Amino acid sequence: MLIKNAVLINEKEKRKCSVRIADGKIKEIATQLEAEKEEHVIDASGYYLLPGGIDVHTHIEMPCGNLVSSDDYDAGTKAAVWGGTTTVMDFAEYDKGEKLQDGLDRWMTKSEGKSYCDYSFHMTVSGWDETTEEQIHKIKSQGITSFKAYTAYQDDIGVNDKELFRILKCMKKIGGLLCVHCENGPVLECLQADLKHVNPGRIRNHPESRPNLVEKEAVSRVIDLAAIVDVPVYIVHVSTKEAVEVIRKAKAKGQKVYAETCPQYLLLDEEAYNLPGFESAKYVLSPPLRKKEDQKALWEALKDGTIDVVSTDHCSFNYHGQKDYGKEDFTQIPNGIPGIENRMKLMLTYGIRHGISLEKIVKVCSAAPAKIFGLYPKKGVLKIGSDADMILIKQEKAHSVTWAELHQRVDYTPYEGMEEEWEIPYVFVHGTCVVDHETWSGKKHLGRFQKCI
Ligand SMILES: [Zn+2]
Repeated sequence: MLIKNAVLINEKEKRKCSVRIADGKIKEIATQLEAEKEEHVIDASGYYLLPGGIDVHTHIEMPCGNLVSSDDYDAGTKAAVWGGTTTVMDFAEYDKGEKLQDGLDRWMTKSEGKSYCDYSFHMTVSGWDETTEEQIHKIKSQGITSFKAYTAYQDDIGVNDKELFRILKCMKKIGGLLCVHCENGPVLECLQADLKHVNPGRIRNHPESRPNLVEKEAVSRVIDLAAIVDVPVYIVHVSTKEAVEVIRKAKAKGQKVYAETCPQYLLLDEEAYNLPGFESAKYVLSPPLRKKEDQKALWEALKDGTIDVVSTDHCSFNYHGQKDYGKEDFTQIPNGIPGIENRMKLMLTYGIRHGISLEKIVKVCSAAPAKIFGLYPKKGVLKIGSDADMILIKQEKAHSVTWAELHQRVDYTPYEGMEEEWEIPYVFVHGTCVVDHETWSGKKHLGRFQKCI
């Protein structure tokens, strides 16, 4: 297949050229390429050609108490591809009493043969005993090089400081990267209990029990613990101006800290907790939505490189039948919002409005995640030999996001009514044109598990 006359965008490159793809890879890139006999040609004049998006923070078909997040691999990855994302990295988890391998095996089974785009995993580590190091080693030998720890939810999936420190030391030993959810769990649980005692059904209790400093304190502690061990660390879903400041200082001192934020923290704010009735439950996620001043700090951090990655933390729960599980008790509202399908268009629209270049959008949504998690240059860049996971994009008239147009398996979108002014009319997965304007032609599940290096 030949894509002619596109403007190719990589993180440090912008040029008009034609691209030939064969056997799922990029075969040739040149200013002019002539079509071979019977070759399928797409004239991409007026379009930009970008590497497909890489979303390194998703929770597909994830158990949460008695519930399971509403997208499975079939639905979640289909929505990802519709939205221009061609690789996802999901969090694999194990249950109490199980080995890490049991959790990984379960995630492998859920995803195999059911994914429309390539995928890999970060392995959650939710405790520590004398066998954990060997277990982590075994997981790494299977191509999983990044792990996850939660400083919240210590009674469930989270870890205390001692366990966290052991995991960081293990990362240093094996050359792994730890992603950390940073909130002070014990403190927010105290705040939750006090608020619940007064009025358990009030949704504003959710943000009020997780103030900015609950995040900042944990970010600061985790960065210091990583400094003691002298190991890189990746802070997931940064949401506050205070945490941004801590990360900026650590980076300035030369510490290897990676930071991620998500479109919801850049674009939505705590006003969402003032909606009538139970509507605000649609915005219950952790960390919660913050103030405009936090948004401003996050955009600045994205621009100056303090934040490296924009991913989604996609974790869908239906408003009817799942979110309402917590109608009488705000602590029982399943945490999470959908966004896997919206990230690229929202970042193109609002990123550019904030003065961010297309190259930078490729960097934070594709190239940097691929580099940090060991998928580069197979993914995250358009160059000869790379996977032909690509999108053709075009600026159009602004229109409103509506749930009815989306493909995620969930009954609402938190971005309802927001503007999008970029279209992604073509999406290629392994060189196959899976999305062609409104037509889906992904007949097969082309996604394969990707080993990270
Ligand atoms: Zn998450």
